[in-house]
Amino acid sequence: MGLLDRLIRLSLPFIPRFVVARVSRRYIAGPTLEDAVATVRALNAEGAMATVDVLGEEVREERQVAEAVAEYERALDAIRREKLDCNLSVKPTAFGLRLDRALCLRSLDRVVAAAAAQGGFVRLDMEDHTTTDATLELYRELRARHDGAVGVVLQAMLHRTVADVGALLEGRPNIRLCKGIYREPRERAWQDRETVREAFGYALGKLLRGGSYVGIATHDERLVFAGMALCDRLGLERARYEFQMLLGVEPALRRIILGAGHRLRVYVPYGEDWYRYSLRRLRENPTIAGHVLRAFFRRD
Ligand SMILES: Cc1cc2nc3c(=O)[nH]c(=O)nc-3n(C[C@H](O)[C@H](O)[C@H](O)COP(=O)(O)OP(=O)(O)OC[C@H]3O[C@@H](n4cnc5c(N)ncnc54)[C@H](O)[C@@H]3O)c2cc1C
Repeated sequence: MGLLDRLIRLSLPFIPRFVVARVSRRYIAGPTLEDAVATVRALNAEGAMATVDVLGEEVREERQVAEAVAEYERALDAIRREKLDCNLSVKPTAFGLRLDRALCLRSLDRVVAAAAAQGGFVRLDMEDHTTTDATLELYRELRARHDGAVGVVLQAMLHRTVADVGALLEGRPNIRLCKGIYREPRERAWQDRETVREAFGYALGKLLRGGSYVGIATHDERLVFAGMALCDRLGLERARYEFQMLLGVEPALRRIILGAGHRLRVYVPYGEDWYRYSLRRLRENPTIAGHVLRAFFRRD
């Protein structure tokens, strides 16, 4: 990442919202469920599966939890009605994890039960390290009630992930493995990019050899190749794993993975609460400066 890109990255919280909105448009389906449905339909036509995320996190009021449940129920209806190849991704803090744990579990349970009833699947996204224990605990409880309909995420950057893989492995969990997007302190997470890659490869090997279903979530070409090579070496059927990518990131790589005959799922966020998600995406864009400067001066 160049100097100007790094500078813009550090200044992101001070950049006007209209600029952030313009630059992050590619990462988000749009404000409504109809936007998400149109995006998923197009992805399905391309041969990709999808997972829909209703934007929102860190809610502070019960009312917002009820709204999240209702919106996910609407999304499930649309998936069934439109016969979409699509599951759900949810953030525990959007379901009130920091507000009321019992409410969070009850609300997630309602969505997972509704998904399970129509043969669907819900993945608990993983947020920053202060939520890891609670999220894994929610996963275990939901899984005990709805086996096969729920999965979770592990972040290769966290030191604890190797142990978490070990603790979960016996139950052959359905795991999305990613590097991890949250800024974590040195005592919690590997800071060196190469070490994070190594940790990703190690966790992936352990999960696949242990019989887990893995969503290999990365746009890092080296990890994509390493994942393909490992699945090949282990002689895994395509139904044992999938690649996963974010909407708006590396569409060319997406086509390469699909072209090689692997299954691929695209994460499709939608909704009004787009700001925090967008900042996280912009921070990871290696050519952020050009995008921001163009968006600043473009007339819309
Ligand atoms: C489907 C999916 C779900 C995820 N869920 C979670 C989760 O629950 N919790 C969590 O902490 N993290 C999650 N992540 C984010 C993940 O942890 C990484 O932060 C993110 O994927 C970037 O890491 P990378 O492996 O792609 O490698 P990087 O080295 O960051 O990226 C590889 C290359 O991809 C391109 N690229 C990456 N990001 C962008 C971008 N925003 N804009 C433009 N180009 C880009 C660049 O060319 C870059 O060189 C998820 C990622 C995916 C794909």
